[in-house]
Amino acid sequence: MRGKATNVRADDATSIRHIVGRLSRGERAKGSLSVGTMASGQTIELPWLALKGMRPGPCLWLNGAVHGDELNGVLASLDFFRGLDPDAVSGCVVVSPVSNPLGFDARRKRVPQDELDLDQTFPGRENGLTSELLAWRLFREIRGFATVLVNFHTMNPYFGSDPYVVYKVSSDGASETTILSAAAAFEPFVACRMPVEDGSELPGNVAGALDYQSLKSGTMAFMVELGGGSRQERAFIEQGVRGLIRLSQAIKLLPFQAEPERKVIRVSERRHVMCRNGGLFRQHERAGQILDPGTTIGMIENVWGETIEDVRFPYPVALIGVRTDPVVHSGDRVAFVGTTWDEVVV
Ligand SMILES: [Zn+2]
Repeated sequence: MRGKATNVRADDATSIRHIVGRLSRGERAKGSLSVGTMASGQTIELPWLALKGMRPGPCLWLNGAVHGDELNGVLASLDFFRGLDPDAVSGCVVVSPVSNPLGFDARRKRVPQDELDLDQTFPGRENGLTSELLAWRLFREIRGFATVLVNFHTMNPYFGSDPYVVYKVSSDGASETTILSAAAAFEPFVACRMPVEDGSELPGNVAGALDYQSLKSGTMAFMVELGGGSRQERAFIEQGVRGLIRLSQAIKLLPFQAEPERKVIRVSERRHVMCRNGGLFRQHERAGQILDPGTTIGMIENVWGETIEDVRFPYPVALIGVRTDPVVHSGDRVAFVGTTWDEVVV
């Protein structure tokens, strides 16, 4: 890793922004934000890394493992950060590689102490539940400091998927074209536009997502879904690093290089596909492709080896994610598909 590195502890009185302000140009720092304590007395902390570039410029913030078992983005962020040449950087890079440390240690998506989804909890509360405390401590650092934020996710551990992006639009945030062209740097299979203000087609509090709260506070932000959970997928980690480099060049954090025009499949409606019967899901198609009407995504067979269900649609779908773990009960998710999309050039 190139550049001088310092170890800093950001307690309640200091912020990463102030620490970066005091660094020399080209210097790296790392530390942990104090959030609270466990019953055993162990501290709850949010690890972070930062690099101050040689010249002024934007602040790129990378956030990993907001869902504790989604790991490819953690590895991609660390690889990108390690590979940065400080001489080439204008502005700064901050990485919060493990933003849900309690879920991460427990190898779970949610925060085990309150079973909340951390990415539905932002901006958090100073005197709130454990998840709200984590969100509040992190968001206090991001708000007003990050110019661009990439929040890394994956699909759940039972699913496989090619990298795609998800973004929201807010009337008081960056324009859709700006977000879409930044997100296209990751060469996603699709870019899913999620409505917030008119309500989402998916369950949960979408307005509590880190990217949406960041957008509302003036940071351009989106989510990168980098493969499947609870595993490392080298090709997708590398795709994530390449995306971060291209994004950095486009925002002039790294020496500017114009992005070629890219065609993006913009999905405006998506849905989970649930099976009616329990049994074994036999995957027929892999994720990352547009399927013709009537294409079998997979079949359910029972434990006696008889085929009992054919999962398919009478219209074309964009197969975003598909179940790789075969064991399913009635009502389990077997696929995640886009049902309405258009193509945009950015
Ligand atoms: Zn996630």
